[in-house]
Amino acid sequence: MLAFSIILVEFLLSGRFKSISNSIGMDRTMRFHQIIARSALLFALVHPFLYGGTPSGGQRPWDPTRQLTITTDLSSLSSGIAAFVLLPSLVLFAVYRTQLEYKYETWRLMHGLGAALIAMLLLHHTVYAGRYGSQTLMTWLWLTLTAVSVGSLFYVYLLVPLLEKRRSWRVTSVTQLTPRQWELTVGANGHAGLDYKAGQFAWLNVGHSPFSPYENPFSISSAPASGSAVSFMIKELGDFTRTIGLIKPGTIAYLDAAYGTLVVDDRKEPGVALIAGGIGIAPLLSILRQMRLTGDTRSVKIVYGNQSINQVAYSDELDKEDVTYVLSEPPETWQGETGLIDPKLFDRVFTQEEIREWVFVVCGPSKMMDVVEDHLISRGAPSNHILAERFDYD
Ligand SMILES: Cc1cc2nc3c(=O)[nH]c(=O)nc-3n(C[C@H](O)[C@H](O)[C@H](O)COP(=O)(O)OP(=O)(O)OC[C@H]3O[C@@H](n4cnc5c(N)ncnc54)[C@H](O)[C@@H]3O)c2cc1C
Repeated sequence: MLAFSIILVEFLLSGRFKSISNSIGMDRTMRFHQIIARSALLFALVHPFLYGGTPSGGQRPWDPTRQLTITTDLSSLSSGIAAFVLLPSLVLFAVYRTQLEYKYETWRLMHGLGAALIAMLLLHHTVYAGRYGSQTLMTWLWLTLTAVSVGSLFYVYLLVPLLEKRRSWRVTSVTQLTPRQWELTVGANGHAGLDYKAGQFAWLNVGHSPFSPYENPFSISSAPASGSAVSFMIKELGDFTRTIGLIKPGTIAYLDAAYGTLVVDDRKEPGVALIAGGIGIAPLLSILRQMRLTGDTRSVKIVYGNQSINQVAYSDELDKEDVTYVLSEPPETWQGETGLIDPKLFDRVFTQEEIREWVFVVCGPSKMMDVVEDHLISRGAPSNHILAERFDYD
């Protein structure tokens, strides 16, 4: 019952429900999703062995609630056995997703459909083989919970796309920023645009039906105050991102937005530190641009790490700010910071007072984010002053 309940909650922790992920944060939502999946797996795998010694062979007349017997009826057990095999496969495929050579979209589809199938099998098993599930009240409870959870897939993959269809966008420009980074801008197609906050991200679908699984999360790099056009800074990485340069202006796009909690709008701290590694600069640009467009008077310091000088994007704009560029493979003539964004560099850029009092927005490779977050905490920064969002959930 614990395993089944957790699996049902997992549907709501998919990261596609703004009310959940925008309140507890996307990283926490996804981490929680990963951790409790492992707990559900453990409970599910262990439970058949907890029945050792219990009389089997079907219901006895003196045991109407089936508390003292377990069923051996294969039709009730078969759904449980199927789920018993499928659940570990679903979790293992998710854990080793990156090592397995198949498309992300294929994985996502399999993960969603597999989870829905497992939930149905578990419903059948719980109601027909469970000791309490067959009681009318419990049957209705499990049925309702399963309907809500599996129904959430219809919300995400049917209802939301239907709404997106009525609010389409068109690509207005595609610009190469650096050898492997692009800026893609979309304009509203006959509607008022998007309601978002600087630092948030959208699920972007370019050139496919709104019902297609081909959509990817990208941070919005433009500022809400700059108008209804929405820009993304995109790094070439895989199937879709490597084709950005081929996208023609005029192509239809759909946005499911706005998600994410890298938002400093209503923060009270006297300064904002923007710490980016590579493409992690995208949401931070949005924050910076919004602050400049709205005349925000808070102090800003930017630390922007890259491997090489030709990966540094928007330097014209950033050079006007208090920015520290960090290169791990600098050219010989480089006068600035070198190496990685590490504690020593942090102590050179920020005073102790700034570390304790400012809000830190961190986005970049996981390793960099771990180092920065650990260091800030060790130097006395309150954890609620650190806003972080990962681009990849290992
Ligand atoms: C919240 C968030 C914000 C992001 N913002 C940006 C951004 O501003 N700029 C940018 O360049 N990148 C950003 N990314 C990363 C971006 O989503 C992936 O690089 C992109 O989806 C890769 O797609 P692909 O088809 O080219 O690669 P693929 O070959 O399909 O996949 C390569 C890897 O990218 C990741 N990925 C692919 N599709 C998805 C997906 N639908 N959801 C989550 N991860 C996926 C997976 O880890 C996958 O293994 C962000 C990711 C997240 C989660």
